Amino acid sequence: MANINTNYLKLPGSYLFTEIARRVADYSAQHPDKKLIRLGIGDVTQPLPAAVTAAMHAAVDEMASAKGFHGYGPEQGYDFLRSAIEAHDYRARGMDIRADEIFVSDGAKSDCGNIGDIFAQDNVVAVCDPVYPVYVDTNAMAGRAGDYDAQSGKWSNLVYMPCVAGNGFAPEIPRGKVDLIYLCFPNNPTGSVATRDQLKAWVDYANRVGAVILYDSAYEAFITNPDVPHSIFEIAGARTCAIEFRSFSKTAGFTGTRCAYTVVPKDLERGGASLNSLWNRRQCTKFNGVPYVVQRGAEAVYSPEGRAQVRETIAFYLNNAKVIRDGLQSAGLIVSGGTDSPYVWAHTPDGMDSWGFFDHLLQKANVVTTPGAGFGPSGEGYIRFTAFGGADDTAEAVERVKAVL
Ligand code: PLP
Repeated sequence: MANINTNYLKLPGSYLFTEIARRVADYSAQHPDKKLIRLGIGDVTQPLPAAVTAAMHAAVDEMASAKGFHGYGPEQGYDFLRSAIEAHDYRARGMDIRADEIFVSDGAKSDCGNIGDIFAQDNVVAVCDPVYPVYVDTNAMAGRAGDYDAQSGKWSNLVYMPCVAGNGFAPEIPRGKVDLIYLCFPNNPTGSVATRDQLKAWVDYANRVGAVILYDSAYEAFITNPDVPHSIFEIAGARTCAIEFRSFSKTAGFTGTRCAYTVVPKDLERGGASLNSLWNRRQCTKFNGVPYVVQRGAEAVYSPEGRAQVRETIAFYLNNAKVIRDGLQSAGLIVSGGTDSPYVWAHTPDGMDSWGFFDHLLQKANVVTTPGAGFGPSGEGYIRFTAFGGADDTAEAVERVKAVL
């Protein structure tokens, strides 16, 4: 008999967005006349930049001729895209990251989840609380999280770093030693950012204890404050302790097109082994690359037109975030995030719990949000709004929410 990976059996009932979808579907089935506005799941709504679709059309045409056809590409990504990433996302910002340290992939979700393949099972893992659920669940699947306790909502072997109003939504460095540290800035779900000094403290800690920082900067394009770092590699010492995940999903509307990348510096070694080599080995064995057409589209994000179009779309979403922030604040809610991030994180009113407030907004305002508790125990008492909707929908949703508060 084949034995299964029993770690999967320990996972709690349903993935957050599945549970939200279930509640929304139930409500819609009972009230088919109600028009819901969705400010819940973090999917974008604006189309791909014109420069991207033009490049993809041209690449499709290339594929139609024997001369321009591309079969399997390099597992790490085509040189044209890796070089563009190196030049624009790193060298132009004064960082020393080379193309052969950049691994193009089909998503930051897969990379954040798959990175665990190159680490032993007995590593101690630290996560922010609240947290993007993928970090927790993939470690649970790998047997690194221990057992789930439904009462506390925590896994026995994970180190939780609460990020709450009291500490400015900034994780504090654990007292004990941890080995793998997931950091995400701008943060999903709280919308908070990390200062240079805060990141420096993490880099120093990781280098001191030999930990590896798994830095998710999927939302870096939303940073408007010039003092906020876009990359962990802006911090001296990060090349020996950090891996960075980036994505075209939220930057350029690639959520359905799929393209991202992971940076593993060649200076990063543990146990005498190069993590760049291990990740390369992993990718070459289990991954066959991102489609040529998609990589040509991603390359166009860095063209002058592409960059201008991306800036415009990000400004559009940030304006939605401002509408949400201002509206909720004027209605008396305490909010954070939404200035360098597409996420606005609001305290629930009157001590309401997260799912209670979620249901209230769904049923009374017909607005779909995401309950903070779904991101971890310290998310209780908060709710997340996303700025990825249309401008009119966002404005209407805010008015509806204000009316039921
Ligand atoms: N990382 C964070 C923090 C996210 O919120 C998301 C998506 O919502 C991802 C990664 C996934 O990005 P991708 O679409 O590249 O898989």
